Amino acid sequence: MKNLLGSSIKDLENVALDYGQAAFRGRQIYNWIYNYRNKKKNIEQIEVLPIDFRKKLKEDGFKVSELSFQEKNLAKDGTLKLLLSTCDNESIECVGIPTEKRLTACLSSQIGCPMDCKFCATGKEGLKRSLKASEILDQILFIESEMNRKVTNIVFMGMGEPLLNIDELLLAIRSINEDFQISHRKITVSTVAIPKMIKKLSAKSFQILGKCQFTLAISLHASNQKIREMIIPSAKNYDINNIIRDCRNFVKDTGRRVSFEYLMLSGVNDKLEHANELSELLKGFQCHVNLIQYNQIDEVIFKRASSKNLQLFQSRLFNNGIAVSYRKSRGIDKNAACGQLRQNARS
Ligand code: SF4
Repeated sequence: MKNLLGSSIKDLENVALDYGQAAFRGRQIYNWIYNYRNKKKNIEQIEVLPIDFRKKLKEDGFKVSELSFQEKNLAKDGTLKLLLSTCDNESIECVGIPTEKRLTACLSSQIGCPMDCKFCATGKEGLKRSLKASEILDQILFIESEMNRKVTNIVFMGMGEPLLNIDELLLAIRSINEDFQISHRKITVSTVAIPKMIKKLSAKSFQILGKCQFTLAISLHASNQKIREMIIPSAKNYDINNIIRDCRNFVKDTGRRVSFEYLMLSGVNDKLEHANELSELLKGFQCHVNLIQYNQIDEVIFKRASSKNLQLFQSRLFNNGIAVSYRKSRGIDKNAACGQLRQNARS
């Protein structure tokens, strides 16, 4: 199968020329693929193309979309969670999070995940495989089609650890920027942090994209190494102080700010002593802390921190001079935790 999604305008002009068509036919395919109003991404439906050309492309195995719809859940707040099937009968999740001005797509980068974070439904199943760039991009097409709106922001916070699929991730980011016309600054790559990979991310980004302008979000979730290892087993290979050091270097190399995600877990990391410890860890670092409400899942001992603890924690960080915000969980009434929809579909 030859997937046209993720192809540049030049690539598609060359496809047209290879079939004895004029180069503008390639531009027609390009404009059609990346226009969110064109809902069904089948080659036969590119009506501006001659029928024979469409037929030939189809016969030769060209496709636009290779994922297929499996299930959807619409929450009261408008958040839409989609379960999509891959060609090898696996499934992945993606989420569309609307506000008045934005539509944020939360994308998966892998099927399953090898990181085994103790609070996460995806981590329970291990890794099946990494996604190709075209499969990452296909999730945007489905969200746009289902929500009838153009995606404006991207967060790689779905299934998988993006830095373990770095080449396909960066190819997808290239297309998101150049073809879907979403600025790098509206893209966030979230990682649980893997030794040496933060440096590699910025170096490869400069090499492949010519710049590194997206936001890096670190799933920190702890104020010290001991707590981090308890909730993220892979953390034992990467000391929390070294993560902060590598993030400071990322800021120096790229000029971009780093944000730290902090999942508030009752009795684990939600006390004022943890807020003070976190403030000390991040002292003098121009960064941002995002406090997140936990979406509880079955078979996991962690519980959501109380709103009171969350507010006290936030105030303490603020008073200690740390830029902090609180991200309310969206889609809370509909299997909102990452990997939950896939887990339910398989059970
Ligand atoms: S939280 Fe992210 S990195 Fe951790 S297991 Fe889940 S998907 Fe993987």
